[in-house]
Amino acid sequence: MSTLATDFIRNRIREDLENDVVDGTIVTRFPPEPNGYLHIGHAKSICLNFGVAAEFGGKTYLRFDDTNPSKESEEFVHSIQEDVRWLGFDWEDRLTFASDYFEQLYSFATQLIEKDKAFVCDLTADEIRATRGTLTEPGSDSPFRTRSIAENLDLFRRMRDGEYADGAKVLRAKIDMASPNLNMRDPVLYRILHLAHHRTGDSWCVYPLYDFTHCICDALEGITHSLCTLEFEDHRPLYDWVLDNVSINFHPPQIEFSRLGLEFNVMSKRILTSLIDSGQVEGWDDPRLPTIAGLRRRGVPAAAIRDFCSRVGVTKQANLVETSLLDFCVRAELEDTAPRGMAVVEPLLVTVINFEGDDIELEARNHPKNLELGSRRLTFGRELYIERSDFAVTASKKQRKLTLNGLARLRYGFIVECVDVINDDSGLPIELKVRYVENSRSGQDTSGLKPKATLHWVSKANAVHAEIRLFERLFNVREPDGSSFESDVNGNSLRSHHGFVERAAVESKWNPCQFERNGFFAFDSSSTPDRPVFNRIVSLMSSKK
Ligand code: ATP
Ligand code: MG
Repeated sequence: MSTLATDFIRNRIREDLENDVVDGTIVTRFPPEPNGYLHIGHAKSICLNFGVAAEFGGKTYLRFDDTNPSKESEEFVHSIQEDVRWLGFDWEDRLTFASDYFEQLYSFATQLIEKDKAFVCDLTADEIRATRGTLTEPGSDSPFRTRSIAENLDLFRRMRDGEYADGAKVLRAKIDMASPNLNMRDPVLYRILHLAHHRTGDSWCVYPLYDFTHCICDALEGITHSLCTLEFEDHRPLYDWVLDNVSINFHPPQIEFSRLGLEFNVMSKRILTSLIDSGQVEGWDDPRLPTIAGLRRRGVPAAAIRDFCSRVGVTKQANLVETSLLDFCVRAELEDTAPRGMAVVEPLLVTVINFEGDDIELEARNHPKNLELGSRRLTFGRELYIERSDFAVTASKKQRKLTLNGLARLRYGFIVECVDVINDDSGLPIELKVRYVENSRSGQDTSGLKPKATLHWVSKANAVHAEIRLFERLFNVREPDGSSFESDVNGNSLRSHHGFVERAAVESKWNPCQFERNGFFAFDSSSTPDRPVFNRIVSLMSSKK
């Protein structure tokens, strides 16, 4: 980035450095839970955490918050690392897991018991909820709150030793059941879960909860600024309480910023998981999803995502960002760098009835401005394809189509006149008969004709059959809540076409590329040399609403 970003977090860091609140090195962390793939909301947090550390000469940990073995897996641990790396960030040797600290966390919990700041509670989850009170009414003390320190120590050890069933007991902080902040009403710190953990196996059957784990890991790693999203604002007093009551003499400040929302998308891993499980999309890397893996597969460059995150900025205001901003960043990134070719998505056969002899070779630049991208040869012959939507028997001048008895220029090639239309039984055109104007070759045109329409096309001899996938938004509603896929999911979000692309685009593996007038495209991961598959990353112009 050429100019240094300023926002309330960077300003705060500058102040802390000036006032010697931190000892010179800024340390941040990105703490994903490995219970799903990363999405563009996470990218905002990644760009922020890795970005500020880099700007201030600091360092960043990639720390997995792996305290819930029921939802976590190695697949997610791998995908998250791949995505962070692909986004362009490097944690170097700072890859950690909350589970690295399980032994320490356990002993900090024991310390709390020893200070009479935590107790083992036998209430069920429902009973704990029922005695928690409400925003207007205080909760009530657990009958187990007065257990002796010795009894609590003994019971907590036996919880660890596996003597009790899941849910039979929990360890709770002893704070204040009348606190106006519900998070401070004797929150649960540890629960029993007889489940194998993807890293620690069967070593543990008690697992610490997020609020207890996160602050301690931050402190142990010397995180100078613990940046998280606004929903944790109400948890901050608990973050501070834990660190004030265990013996660690480092206390990071928790600083909250607003989550990124993208309209017509969901970011919740729970909803993403159910979209996948219910078969609405093909998997975590479905190009219609706002996941990093999906965006990558679609062909969105990492630089466009970083640009997007920096344009969105960091504030405390809730933001539901328009998808057009992401599209803008993608176009801006690809505009000058993606080679351009031609593809016909919905082909209509055109026969040039006055063409005879050998095909004519034409030269076409691969980019109008970026000459480094070179040029390629096209062939013009008797049979070619144009876009079905570029023909109409009659059309107004504004529509810029080829019409019956009308003229159009074939880009880089010749002007043609449509003299006949052959329809199928249902009246749909299946072939056009045209005549080409011999002295109208692009660059050497002496015909004096000025057709309004210029069309993209592919000659049959130069065409490679390709599947071309066009995407629309996955949801019809601006802020889907995942409650009704049936009404909210757009049934047309994926349209797969059997079209033709220029041979050069396939053989030179232009990736991504622009197919003129159709948009920017990239090879799908399922593509093979014999069966190319292209994803449309974004169209060329924002469609009018
Ligand atoms: P979910 O609510 O879907 O489970 P999460 O926020 O719990 O997602 P984590 O893996 O815990 O997912 O997130 C890791 C980090 O990314 C956290 O610090 C979190 O605040 C941040 N993050 C998650 N979603 C967003 C978002 N939409 N915008 C900005 N940061 C986000
Ligand atoms: Mg989380």
